[in-house]
Amino acid sequence: MADITIHQCQCPACLSGKDHDARRHHHHINLLMSRLDEQQRRWFAALEAKKVGHGGDALLALITGLHVDTIRRGRLELDDDLRGRPDDRIRQPGAGRPPLKKTTR
Ligand SMILES: [Zn+2]
Repeated sequence: MADITIHQCQCPACLSGKDHDARRHHHHINLLMSRLDEQQRRWFAALEAKKVGHGGDALLALITGLHVDTIRRGRLELDDDLRGRPDDRIRQPGAGRPPLKKTTR
């Protein structure tokens, strides 16, 4: 397994060190991001940014460490139904559903 570093949220609330409602959510965003590939990270951040609404791109840039332009690009790609984006995924060996195979002895 490649070494996975989980980005620490840089939003003002998390940086303050105080407990706040979104802290776990921000951590989970970064946890999930650490398992995604580059374009999936972009789309996930974009989706979260859309949820935030105004200022979402900038906030998600702070949370995820992605560039704000990257998140905006992800939003545009989502809005375009990911048209033209490759949908072939690189599967890790052993990932996904096991093949349907009868084990008879
Ligand atoms: Zn945060």
